[in-house]
Amino acid sequence: MAETGMHDVVIIGGGIGGLSGAWRLRHRDVLVLEAGARPGGRLRSERRGDYWLNFGAHLFGESASPAGALADELGLEARPIPGDRMGIAFKGKVVAGGRSETFPLRLPLDLGARLSFVKMGLKLRSGVMRLLEVQKAVPGEPPGTRRMRQLSFENGRTLENYVGALTPDTELILRTITERTAADPSEMAAGYGLTSFAQVWSKHSFGRNLFGGSSRLPEAIASALGDRLHLNAEAISVEQKGEAVEIAYRQGGELRLVRARHAIVATPATVSAKILRGLPAETAEALGRIRYGTFLSAAVLTSETGPMPWDANYAIATPGLSFGVFFNQASTLRVGPRKAGGSLMLFRGARGADELIKLSDDEIARRFKADLEKLFPQARGIVEEIVIQRWPLGAPYSFPGRAALQSALTRDLGRLHLAGDYLEFPCMDAAIATAGEAAAAIELALTHPA
Ligand SMILES: Cc1cc2nc3c(=O)[nH]c(=O)nc-3n(C[C@H](O)[C@H](O)[C@H](O)COP(=O)(O)OP(=O)(O)OC[C@H]3O[C@@H](n4cnc5c(N)ncnc54)[C@H](O)[C@@H]3O)c2cc1C
Repeated sequence: MAETGMHDVVIIGGGIGGLSGAWRLRHRDVLVLEAGARPGGRLRSERRGDYWLNFGAHLFGESASPAGALADELGLEARPIPGDRMGIAFKGKVVAGGRSETFPLRLPLDLGARLSFVKMGLKLRSGVMRLLEVQKAVPGEPPGTRRMRQLSFENGRTLENYVGALTPDTELILRTITERTAADPSEMAAGYGLTSFAQVWSKHSFGRNLFGGSSRLPEAIASALGDRLHLNAEAISVEQKGEAVEIAYRQGGELRLVRARHAIVATPATVSAKILRGLPAETAEALGRIRYGTFLSAAVLTSETGPMPWDANYAIATPGLSFGVFFNQASTLRVGPRKAGGSLMLFRGARGADELIKLSDDEIARRFKADLEKLFPQARGIVEEIVIQRWPLGAPYSFPGRAALQSALTRDLGRLHLAGDYLEFPCMDAAIATAGEAAAAIELALTHPA
């Protein structure tokens, strides 16, 4: 096995978590090992002229949020999304804009379904109000304490249990609008589902797109790291041995060994459970118990020459279609004169994605295109390109009892540090915040060795 020396820090995983940790520690001797052929993990976009195809994460928070702040720091432009982010298309009618309380009256539902929708809306609203109290930052408290409080909120029952019995139409709508959280209402914890509603309803969170595409963020860090980022480098084992961490990895068909004073393991929990050796039993078990749901997305380049009916929308949930959410990825470009062309992302998550992922790319593209034209007949003849992206580890969702795993995941592991979106509500902010905390702990330990 080839040995490649000793570093201050080795980071395993070049998703936004691992890369942002490396960015924080860039003044140190840091090495990032990424199994894939590109940096960014679940952030992926590709440029197409004035537009970009988007396959993964796309919604960024304000400048004060970890992802927003990182984009600002790297000189990237996160633009406010002008389009409406809360629409529902049901049985041939698109309802968007206005207050969400009015949706039950505007959607084509029978009286029973309307009443069921109103009841569900009231339950969700009251849950979100309680959650917002729980989420309030307490001055001086460590981030882990707030995280634990949030994870524990309504963690004893499922969302399905929390909202109670619904009519079939209302149940279908709820299932579709929560697919973006990677789980079915019967699987996810109530508090987790409520957190997703709190985010969608907030006027302040997740309202920006990175101009030019989300990949610009990992690419900017990768370019700053240069040869300190190794692609196609898959970690096989990571173990603390005395005063160092030993990492065995495979690159270019060769087995290599590298040592570091500290390591940040920023791989999905299921991978971390496999590659980490010598962990306390409860931590190894907790990593293995994190559950991921499937995501599937289709990036669609369009060639229209004039305005389209979706120009004023960003996101429309589409219960009953083969995709669950329609995203207009060109929304930030719809200010000023309307340019020809466009970019869409058709998304499916959770159980709907589990079924679709078994099909070929061609078949998924065929079904999505047919349903896109059903939703908007104006889409006929303008689809230039469809690229399918499968995300078997789409997002780690919280389930009843998940909060009880947190202390095993956040305990002191010496020279090993865990980071990733599975440590809180899964999003870029969670990955960046947890990696930032790991980087800060390492910086302190390197500056003041025991
Ligand atoms: C379709 C989709 C839409 C989303 N939308 C949003 C959104 O709008 N806003 C938002 O904030 N979040 C969104 N998310 C979630 C967001 O993408 C994730 O929370 C975040 O990117 C997770 O970052 P991470 O670094 O923790 O994990 P990852 O991005 O999964 O990175 C882990 C990295 O580890 C690498 N790896 C795996 N095994 C090994 C190994 N053995 N050795 C070395 N490397 C390894 C992987 O290749 C990967 O690059 C979305 C996700 C998806 C899939």
